[in-house]
Amino acid sequence: MSVAHRGLILLGFPRPNRGANSTVRQKFCETKGTKGIAVKWTLASDIDGTLVGSRESLDRLANRLDVLRNAGGLLLIYCTGRRLDQVIDGTETEGLPIPDAVICQVGTEIYLEPNQESASLESWRTKLLSEYSRAEAESFLDGIPGLQMQPHEFNTDLKTSCFVDECPNPDATAAMIAERAARADDRYMVIYSSGRDLDILPASSGKGKAIAFLLQHLGRSHENVVVAGDTGNDSAMFHHFDRGIVVANAQPELIALAEAADAKSVYQAGLPYAAGVEQGLEFFGVLPIKTA
Ligand SMILES: [Mg+2]
Repeated sequence: MSVAHRGLILLGFPRPNRGANSTVRQKFCETKGTKGIAVKWTLASDIDGTLVGSRESLDRLANRLDVLRNAGGLLLIYCTGRRLDQVIDGTETEGLPIPDAVICQVGTEIYLEPNQESASLESWRTKLLSEYSRAEAESFLDGIPGLQMQPHEFNTDLKTSCFVDECPNPDATAAMIAERAARADDRYMVIYSSGRDLDILPASSGKGKAIAFLLQHLGRSHENVVVAGDTGNDSAMFHHFDRGIVVANAQPELIALAEAADAKSVYQAGLPYAAGVEQGLEFFGVLPIKTA
């Protein structure tokens, strides 16, 4: 099923689609900034299928994270394929805690003190733009029958995204696009998800590298970081940091990663969604173990 190919990754990748909410925008504007907070731990978590999936579990986890964050003990980062406005909307409608920073569009955009009007971190943009040409990325898609571009909001100057499920052979099409991209001096990364979605990104982007860049920008340690995810799309985070949580509902590719890893560094939760994240945070000592 999987296609092993240079620069090509086969992954599951949800694509929520919600509108912005002005009330939540305001809430975001009022949140504290990331700099200057004495943080012991950093939780960098995927959203869909990881934190979101059971509202009851998320509410319980959010309450426990609030206690830790109010004591200055946690920096909360979302690392997601969502757009910023969809993350903001999720804090209102899905019970997501308001984060300290957000990494969007599969690691191509970083937002500090995020609000609807905020611009992504310029130093990260500049770094990625130096290696990425949207026109060149689009050229890898030339002449492919059945290929359709994704909606414009998922196509940016740092992300070229299309659907390949209407192509005669989606897997072979994805492999061919990755082959074309690989000829460009390793400046591009192709992510193929769910047999449908295909993203061409800067090779230096991705969730793991974006988190590392953000922490460096904030002058924060890379050591006390816990990452959490549910699909292979999150695997880059696990490769960059020493502590990872794989929720019980994870896709097989991420469960395989957990099985192959040192059990002390990657925790395979017995529970799904936020309940699994909660278990993992207890395992790593970020949250106290519940006695009841
Ligand atoms: Mg996910």
